[in-house]
Amino acid sequence: MLIVVVLLATVVMRIAIVTVVAYLLLPQGRFCPHCAGEMTAIRNRFFDRVLPALQRRWCVECGWDGVVRRVRSAPPHSFVISRAARS
Ligand SMILES: [Zn+2]
Repeated sequence: MLIVVVLLATVVMRIAIVTVVAYLLLPQGRFCPHCAGEMTAIRNRFFDRVLPALQRRWCVECGWDGVVRRVRSAPPHSFVISRAARS
């Protein structure tokens, strides 16, 4: 019984390692990995619901499309009002 648990644990660890490496190999952000142009996000229900950390994007300039790691966008600067500006 112990050998089954050990073999199952190694299989689970292999799957986890492959998943992490594949995630880290994906390009990140909204810029094209080929031409560095800005890419357009493509709506995909699968990624939005099941894997929200990933996003499908398409490059308008060179036509590359693929899955990238989603990045959180920074809040716009126009909403940041300092206390000195208000008073
Ligand atoms: Zn491109």
